[in-house]
Amino acid sequence: MDALVERLAHEHVLDAQGYASLLASCDETAFNLLQKYAAEVAQSHFGSRVYIRGLIEVSNYCRNNCYYCGIRRDNREVSRYRLTDEQILSACENGYRLGFRTFVLQGGEDAHLTDERLVPLVETMHRRYPDCAITLSLGERSHSSYKRLYDAGASRYLLRHEAASRQLYEQLHPVSMSWHNRMKCIEELQQIGFQTGMGMMVGVPGQSIDHLVEDLLLMQQMRPHMVGIGPFIPHSLTPLGHHPAGSVRLTLMLICIVRLMLPSALIPSTTALASLSSQAQLQGIQCGANVIMPNLSPSDVRDSYQIYEGKAAFGSEAAEGLLILSERLAEIGYEISYEKGDYKSDN
Ligand code: SF4
Repeated sequence: MDALVERLAHEHVLDAQGYASLLASCDETAFNLLQKYAAEVAQSHFGSRVYIRGLIEVSNYCRNNCYYCGIRRDNREVSRYRLTDEQILSACENGYRLGFRTFVLQGGEDAHLTDERLVPLVETMHRRYPDCAITLSLGERSHSSYKRLYDAGASRYLLRHEAASRQLYEQLHPVSMSWHNRMKCIEELQQIGFQTGMGMMVGVPGQSIDHLVEDLLLMQQMRPHMVGIGPFIPHSLTPLGHHPAGSVRLTLMLICIVRLMLPSALIPSTTALASLSSQAQLQGIQCGANVIMPNLSPSDVRDSYQIYEGKAAFGSEAAEGLLILSERLAEIGYEISYEKGDYKSDN
C-alpha cells in the first residue's frame, strides 16, 4: 500500500487498479503517509495560505429534481427566495470590506436567472471590483450563455460532474437530466476559458469504490482547475433522505489523492465537511485542501438554502466569522489568504 502512495506522490498518477486498491485497502499507516505527502504538495504550491471565497446563494428556486437535494423542485416545504441585484451587490460590498477578493454566485437552476439579468449584474460586479474574481455556480446553461457570462467578467465556473459513471448519475437524477449534457457543459466551460471546477459527493447511495475510481480517472483526464469533494449528507425531504451520510475518512482520502494528482488545483475543504464537524473541515486543510468558502448571503435567507440538513452557514462558515476561522486555522499552522488566488498551472 505504501508503494502505491509513493508512486502517486512522485508520478501524480495511478491506474484504475492502483486507485481502487488505495481506496479499498488504505490502512492507517498508508493514510498517514498519503496525508503527509498531500500536505507537503499543498505547502510547496501555496505555503500555509488558505484562500477564502465569499459564497452568495442567489436563489433557491430550481427547475430540477435531483434525488439528493433539499431544494429540489418537488420539495414544497422549502421557503423559496431570490436575491435582488441590490442584495447581491450589497453582499459583495460587505464581503469586499471584510477582505474577500472572490465572490461566488451560487444558485439553483432558476428560470429567472436569465442572461438578460445576469450579464449586467456580472458586468457591474466586474466594474466595481476589478481586483476580484467572479465565480459562478449556476448549473447547466447553453454555450452562448456561458460565453456571455465569461465576456461579462466571470472567470471561474463550478459545475460538479456528480458522477463519472453514467449509470450512477442516472440513479441520482431524474430522466429529465442528462449525463451527456453535464459532461458537454464542463467541456464547453473549459473551452471558453473558465477556470472550471468539477467534483462529486462521497457516499451517495449506490456509489461503489469503482465509481469513485471512475471519478478520479475522469478528473485525471480533464484536469479541472478546482475540485469540490464533500460527503453526502441526507435531507429527509428527498427521495434519498433515509440513507446514511458519507464517510469523512473516505472524503479526506479522496482530497489527498486529488491533491497529489492535481498539485496546483484549488480544492475547497467543503461546507459539507464543516457541517459534519469543524474538525473535519480543518482535517480537509491538513489533507491538502486550500480553499474555504464562508457564507456571504444575507443572514435571513441562509437557512433556506438547505441542500442537505444541518448545512453550516454561521460561525466560522460565515463571512462575519473570519476571526474564528482565522484562529482555528492558526491552531493547525495555516492562515487566511486575502489574495484573489487564481489557478496557476504547474507548467
Ligand atoms: S443539486 Fe442543483 S440542480 Fe439539482 S435540484 Fe439541487 S440546486 Fe437544483
